[in-house]
Amino acid sequence: SVRADEDLLDGLNPQQREAVVYRGPALLIVAGAGSGKTSVLTRRVASLLRTKDAWPSQILAITFTNKAAGEMRERVGQLIGDRAQGMWISTFHSACVRILRREAQQFGFTKSFTIYDSGDSRALLKRLVKEHEADAYGITPAGAQSRISKLKNELADAESYARSANMNDPAERVFVDVFSDYQRELQRANAFDFDDLIGQVVYLFRAFPHVADTYRRRFRHILVDEYQDTNHAQYALIHELTQPVSGGGAAPFESGGMMIFEPEPATDAEGPASLTVVGDSDQSIYAFRGADIRNITEFERDYPGAKVVLLEQNYRSTQNILSAANAVIGNNFDRKDKKLWTDVGEGEKIIGFTGYSQHDEAQFVADEIEKLHREGVDYSQVAVFYRTNSQSRALEEIFIRAALPYKIMGGTKFYERAEIKDALAYLIAVSNPADEMALRRIINRPRRGIGDVTIEAISRYAANEQITFRDALANSSALGVGPKIQAAIAHLDAVLAEATEIMLPATGELPPPTAVADGLQLLLGKSGYTDALRASKDAQDEARVENLDELVAVAREFARNNPEGTVVDFLAEVQLVSDADDLEDASGSVSLMTMHTAKGLEYDAVFVTGVEEDLIPHRISAGEPGGPQEERRLFYVGITRARKRLHLSLAMTRAQFGEISVAMPSRFLQEIPAELIQWRQSPGDVNSRGGMQSRALNARRPGGPSAAKRYGDDLVPKSTSIERFANRIPAKVRDNGDMQLASGDRIRHDDFGEGRVDAVTGEGAKRVAHVRFDSAGPKKLLIKIAPIEKL
Ligand code: ATP
Ligand code: MG
Repeated sequence: SVRADEDLLDGLNPQQREAVVYRGPALLIVAGAGSGKTSVLTRRVASLLRTKDAWPSQILAITFTNKAAGEMRERVGQLIGDRAQGMWISTFHSACVRILRREAQQFGFTKSFTIYDSGDSRALLKRLVKEHEADAYGITPAGAQSRISKLKNELADAESYARSANMNDPAERVFVDVFSDYQRELQRANAFDFDDLIGQVVYLFRAFPHVADTYRRRFRHILVDEYQDTNHAQYALIHELTQPVSGGGAAPFESGGMMIFEPEPATDAEGPASLTVVGDSDQSIYAFRGADIRNITEFERDYPGAKVVLLEQNYRSTQNILSAANAVIGNNFDRKDKKLWTDVGEGEKIIGFTGYSQHDEAQFVADEIEKLHREGVDYSQVAVFYRTNSQSRALEEIFIRAALPYKIMGGTKFYERAEIKDALAYLIAVSNPADEMALRRIINRPRRGIGDVTIEAISRYAANEQITFRDALANSSALGVGPKIQAAIAHLDAVLAEATEIMLPATGELPPPTAVADGLQLLLGKSGYTDALRASKDAQDEARVENLDELVAVAREFARNNPEGTVVDFLAEVQLVSDADDLEDASGSVSLMTMHTAKGLEYDAVFVTGVEEDLIPHRISAGEPGGPQEERRLFYVGITRARKRLHLSLAMTRAQFGEISVAMPSRFLQEIPAELIQWRQSPGDVNSRGGMQSRALNARRPGGPSAAKRYGDDLVPKSTSIERFANRIPAKVRDNGDMQLASGDRIRHDDFGEGRVDAVTGEGAKRVAHVRFDSAGPKKLLIKIAPIEKL
């Protein structure tokens, strides 16, 4: 007889088929990049539904980004039709937010809790580190943040940590105090930080077995993509969900430590859910965030009897690209060798390019992209990767001037911009009045003359009266502040109250769909926030107004998609936008991103830039145990994103603020067999490249050095077309190739001010000025590109 899911198996190889049709308690799919892991997971979901082994509501599929979740949902929908509705396909974080919204009241939170992102956590820790004078013990807000995050990923809390720490050490005691106050403040503000989202669900499941049982009964099939990058908390969450239904009596688990899965026969609906995980230990790149590769390598121990499927055929890349990837990753000694193969043929050679500077490298990238575009490659099929966010600057500068449409994924994330965070803080002040941090953020934005003294007065009043900070604002006349400040507070209070009435009417009626957007506009308008930006002469503030307009547009869009969505839902959605999610509207533009963000994605043409020692492998990895190995995996992730064309580029010198450092080719380049790479440009003949100079000169725009200085990452709002900005953004990249400098000349530098040239060395494009700046001291500048003027 024909299987009900037969058509879903079309075109799959035997191993892939097996992974789709296997039915049993635990399945591990391990395979290299591009071998169809994600595709198989998607088809497996479709197959479970088609064969009626699962109802949509019984499926929980975990992806690495919201973007990937959306794609999987859409693909399942294409395969089996409308029944894809009602399935939980989401990231760990989104799934946990959904669970917490339902269950938060079980343990002292309300369902309108706020999510603190990394910036919010940092701000809170800054305050606590100061209060505890913890810096005297070498504890910085950033340091405390990363320690707390690591501990939470291990499911440790302040108490359990205190038990294992050496509490005779005063620095440890102070850290524990900061940690426990941090947690208390979060609870008081009815807020979770990012790590809590997962850790608190694990805690909830362990402390309240009947709650865990609800989800164990519900999710009969759990599927996890990119399992190699799960941390201990995520592992424990999956473990909790795949326990047999307890019947409500089981004692809570001890937190921390590894847990052993005790198998029970999956005879009835009360047995454990089936678990499918998919991963590639060669692509484990988040150890620095607590990801534990052992979750995959020890899967068979944790889930005895698990079925293991290996996939070896790669469907993504050409043989040349794969050979390079295999050769590179083969240098990691702590791995099981697996060889990927493909039958799509050799394809083009990898193109290598050594630029003279990072601008030269960027120009190469832009030129190549234009060439590909002329050959019919869509911009959206091109991606440019780098190791660190700051490397995007040079690329952006050249792309803007070449009018090449591009998008930055991650890095200068839209939702991390100060003005966007302010606007969201206004919304939070409405949706969760207990969130004091949000109120403190906006209380003097725009400037209302409310300083620390007033904030202290409000805080004291709230404590004395045992009311919230928000309620204290409503009592401005009792605060004992001057009449001007009192009026400012009363005004803010009134604006917040008015917006609350729009978004969360006291009548309890469901607000109209436009309420969030309308409320947001009201808040930004009546608070004076937008006007203050408009009145500013700073060019960046103009861009900020546009960003805010865009946020209002996002809220309107949200209303269209979620007619019953409230401000709480809106905030939950925007607070969870992850790096790769910016991809949503990337059609028709080149994507720029870090190699970390690139995971799971694929493009026809890929440019991996900055293939230099100290960048990839990154300098900070050198001292870390396993650091260089993880960097090699990251590079492997980067090159295996390419379908047809791969470009590897580097610069001989990297200039920051005009100061030069000499770069060395990455060791990973030498690991690629030489015959696979065709070097486009040897470092020696950079100057003979005719097009570049005239092109740069033509593209130069008026604006002068002071205008150029204002050009920062912040200036280009997300998803704004290049054309609109190209006219406004002055060129920062110079071409001073013809500037005649001699010792004794005086110059002015955008960042370093005035100075005197001591000597000029080198020739042509490599001419270096040795300058003694009046206040910044001696610097070496690459004359061609330094932001300097001769006086
Ligand atoms: P990564 O490790 O990068 O996450 P992956 O193993 O998840 O990769 P997929 O993204 O699922 O791989 O698949 C890579 C490409 O190969 C996709 O374009 C997919 O459509 C294609 N593909 C997968 N299986 C097949 C197949 N049997 N026949 C043809 N194309 C396939
Ligand atoms: Mg994948």
